Amino acid sequence: MSALRRLVRHAWPLPWTTVGLALGLLAMIAGARLRRVDHTLEITGGAIGRILRRAGTRCPFVAITFGHVVLALDHDTLAALRAHERIHVQQYERWGPLFVPAYLGSSLLQWLRGQDPYRSNWFEREAFGDA
Ligand SMILES: [Zn+2]
Repeated sequence: MSALRRLVRHAWPLPWTTVGLALGLLAMIAGARLRRVDHTLEITGGAIGRILRRAGTRCPFVAITFGHVVLALDHDTLAALRAHERIHVQQYERWGPLFVPAYLGSSLLQWLRGQDPYRSNWFEREAFGDA
């Protein structure tokens, strides 16, 4: 991959990567651990784990991706979900700053159709391999 293409791949989703870094920094202050895997930063455990465990069934996810940053409950959970979250990283690389509005729009459209706004979301179907 050319240096220019690599730069664009990281710069285009940078606004959301910045959000992930800010949340991840807060989580690391509260004990989360940071790892770099390929071209993605993975932040697990600490406050993220405690908050998600406390939320229990009210919280429908155990990992979330912001650009090139993945926040997850713990390392084992992320290891099991890594392939799914990597698809979201690729989606951020394609959609850049438009990813979150497009994701939310897809959820809204599915909800208006009476479908599950999470599992029927186009981006989730692609990440789950259903698209
Ligand atoms: Zn997903």
